[in-house]
Amino acid sequence: MIHIFENIDIAARNSFHVHQQASKIIEFDTNSDLAEIFTNHVSKEWMALGGGNNVLFTKDIEFTLIVPKNEQIEIISDTSESTTVRVGAGVEWDDFVEWCVKRQLWGVENLSLIPGKVGAAPVQNIGAYGVEAKDCISCVEMYFPEQNNFITLAAEHCGFGYRESVFKHSLKGRVIITAVEFRLSKTPQPKLEYGDVIRQVESLGGATLENIREAICSIRRSKLPDTAITGNAGSFFKNPIVDRNIFDALIVKYPNMPHYPTADSNKVKLAAGWLIDQCGLKGYSEGNVGVHDRQALVLINTTGKATGCQVIEFAHKVQKIVFEKFGIEIDTEVNIL
Ligand SMILES: Cc1cc2nc3c(=O)[nH]c(=O)nc-3n(C[C@H](O)[C@H](O)[C@H](O)COP(=O)(O)OP(=O)(O)OC[C@H]3O[C@@H](n4cnc5c(N)ncnc54)[C@H](O)[C@@H]3O)c2cc1C
Repeated sequence: MIHIFENIDIAARNSFHVHQQASKIIEFDTNSDLAEIFTNHVSKEWMALGGGNNVLFTKDIEFTLIVPKNEQIEIISDTSESTTVRVGAGVEWDDFVEWCVKRQLWGVENLSLIPGKVGAAPVQNIGAYGVEAKDCISCVEMYFPEQNNFITLAAEHCGFGYRESVFKHSLKGRVIITAVEFRLSKTPQPKLEYGDVIRQVESLGGATLENIREAICSIRRSKLPDTAITGNAGSFFKNPIVDRNIFDALIVKYPNMPHYPTADSNKVKLAAGWLIDQCGLKGYSEGNVGVHDRQALVLINTTGKATGCQVIEFAHKVQKIVFEKFGIEIDTEVNIL
């Protein structure tokens, strides 16, 4: 089933709640809808859109937004060790996490409460609390409009990295992810070493899937603004990865600076939120935009009236102040349109 919306305000379709017009939005349910959409309804540029939790619209959208609505979760294999599931791109990510927790399937519980759809999860390889979507993804199914065909890409060919994938590079704007396959473990494998997780899980009675999910949800609720109330797109900036010699110089000056190892021993990941906080910007706002007072990585639409351009202008200011203090460039994580 295809639903077409024309000339509508997209404030309800982006978590920053910025008001812009979209000339055409097409929602679809099944794979067979896609050939019909690209033959009869898309005449120029297009872009896939999920829940709009990682996009910032800075102008009216003249191209077609294509939104998958397939909400099926299907078990495709089940052994004594693991279950493989195929999840429609339109499933709400957190509903999928809850589905796994209810069935005692391990792997995505630390990714509880990340807003968005399953179809977007591989795009930036969503991650939180020491876990990334790639840890469980076995393959990604997609439609390739250029060739009017469907392809399935095994996880090892998806170019997954920290907030990275092939979908942000060579396949950007060229495919619509229709479903994602996940391999979930039946063996408990709690990952509790990040932040406050272990303490919260222990206070709930131990490392069950339910307790881990509850702990993560409670930590996230206490730190992050609720998008239903305050427009934001989660972390606006990526944590910078710097050369070890730069890190060595900084740690002498800032011995308490949080830092994390990376796969490359010559590089170190720093916490962008800490850098912003050290510049005195936590809770700072100007006009309609501000830095969240509990998580400096998050920029917020303080008045509900911010435009995308005002958010960008404010973000540039934050980047400049951080650069002047630390000599480090912090990149945006959000997709700016
Ligand atoms: C409060 C808050 C907290 C957050 N916390 C986290 C966090 O802890 N970790 C984290 O990694 N992210 C986090 N995010 C970011 C966001 O939740 C993720 O990026 C999520 O995957 C976005 O899903 P979406 O459906 O809203 O995608 P959208 O914002 O709609 O799209 C994001 C990008 O993916 C592309 N895309 C979407 N669907 C498809 C598809 N079917 N096929 C091809 N391309 C597609 C879009 O074109 C766009 O480039 C947070 C956001 C918010 C608002």
